[in-house]
This record gives sequence, structure tokens and C-alpha cells, in this order.
Amino acid sequence: MIDAHTHTHFSFDGKSSATDMAERGKALGLEYMAFTDHYDRDYAHIERYKSVPQMVLTDYVEAVTKMKEQYPFLALGIECGYSELSEEDYATTLPYEKLDYVLNSIHTVDGVESYGKDYFEGKTKEEAYGAYLKKILKSLDAKYDYDTVSHIGYVRKSSPYPDPALTMKEFGDVIDEILKKVVQKGKTIEINSNIKSKDFMPTAEIIKRYRELGGENVTFSSDAHIVSRVGEMYDVAKEMVKSCGFSYWTVYRRRTPVKIKID
Ligand SMILES: [Zn+2]
Ligand SMILES: [Zn+2]
Repeated sequence: MIDAHTHTHFSFDGKSSATDMAERGKALGLEYMAFTDHYDRDYAHIERYKSVPQMVLTDYVEAVTKMKEQYPFLALGIECGYSELSEEDYATTLPYEKLDYVLNSIHTVDGVESYGKDYFEGKTKEEAYGAYLKKILKSLDAKYDYDTVSHIGYVRKSSPYPDPALTMKEFGDVIDEILKKVVQKGKTIEINSNIKSKDFMPTAEIIKRYRELGGENVTFSSDAHIVSRVGEMYDVAKEMVKSCGFSYWTVYRRRTPVKIKID
């Protein structure tokens, strides 16, 4: 069992300490667990989010590097919130030589959190989801290096539309562009269970399409911000990816992909 995306007190919204999270991972017998605390340079460039506390990078790196001695299954990861204005910050400040793993995420779209209600105001579903997906496409060519594309479908989380599904039928063209580029760049797609729905981010339909297009790298994450959610829905995700034709998880140590057989 793995969990490649978790948060601790080093994130502004983390509810559990790093030690408690690692102890939970140990109790669950995780083969691999990544701490991927928020490094939100996207927020730092948006007036209304400037008050969101930024991670103290050096403290985080030092603390987790030390913890890895005691918890060998632990990996030092980081979650970068992409935006055009933050690219340079990541490119110049990420301590690549010390990191195991870099997640690239879309949280904000053109200066607005796509998790917030106001993101959807005055937008049709096609506009709101379309702009979000185009931003993911753009983030794939970020100036900084990263390993995995995080939670495709995050825009669904507080979607106000009667049918919030993000389907190939409605958005297949741009989703195909994203998936082809992920394959071409050899990146990994994350199956994220941090959504109150039976479907993951992304859904089985999208993972199946990724496989058809030659995709080989998937990973699982709970995106837990609290001990009780570590590994949540792992068994369901495992069966889903197996049914899509995958037999290995891809995880990263020292920025190098490692394959773990799906149990
Ligand atoms: Zn995220
Ligand atoms: Zn996260």
C-alpha cells in the first residue's frame, strides 16, 4: 500500500503533526508515503490570498529529511500550485537536490481559487471546467521540473452544476491533449481520493483513456490533511487502476521513478 500525497502541520491547512502522520503510515504498513506539503507560490502573487501562510521551506526540508531516518518508507515531497506568475519562484527556489518528489497542481485559475464558489459565478460549466483544463495543459510546460500531475478534476470539488461530472464526452478534446502531453513527457498521473464522491480525481474513464494513449505511470494519493484519512479509498483505487490495465504504481525517490507492484 502506498500514499503519495499527504499534508502535515507544515501546510497552512494541515491538521496533524508530521510525526503523527508518519506514525499512522507506519501503523498502516505503507510501503511508500510522501509528505507533499503546500508550497503555494501561486497564492503569493494574488492579492486576496497573500495572507495565506507560506511554508518555511528550509524548516520543512530539514525536519522531513531527519524523519526519513526513522521512517524509511517516507519521502520528502512538495506540492506546487502552478500559475504563470509563480513559475519563476519555483524554478529558482525548489531545493531539487534534497527532494524526492514534486507534485504539480492547479488550485487557482487566473487569480481565483477553483475550489471557491466565486470561481463559478457567471460561468457556464463549459467555461469553468474548460478554463481549468486549459490551465492544467499549460502547467505541463512549467519552467520548473516536476514528477506528477496532481488531482485532475479538482474543479469538481465544489462545483455548483446539477451534473458536476468531468467527462470525456464533454471535455474529451482538451483531456486528450493533456494526456498525450503527459505521456510524451513521461510524467505520472495521480489518482486522488480527496473528494466526497465515488469517483476519483481523475475518474476511471480518464485513466482508461490515458492507458489507451500509452500512459504507463500512475500513483495513488489520499491527499490526507489529517491522520484519519491516510490511505483512504486505497483498495478501491487499486482495483480501478488494475481494471484499466496497470500493474505498477510509480513513486519517486530522489526524483527517480520507482515501480511498486500493485498488491
Ligand atoms: Zn492540491
Ligand atoms: Zn494536496
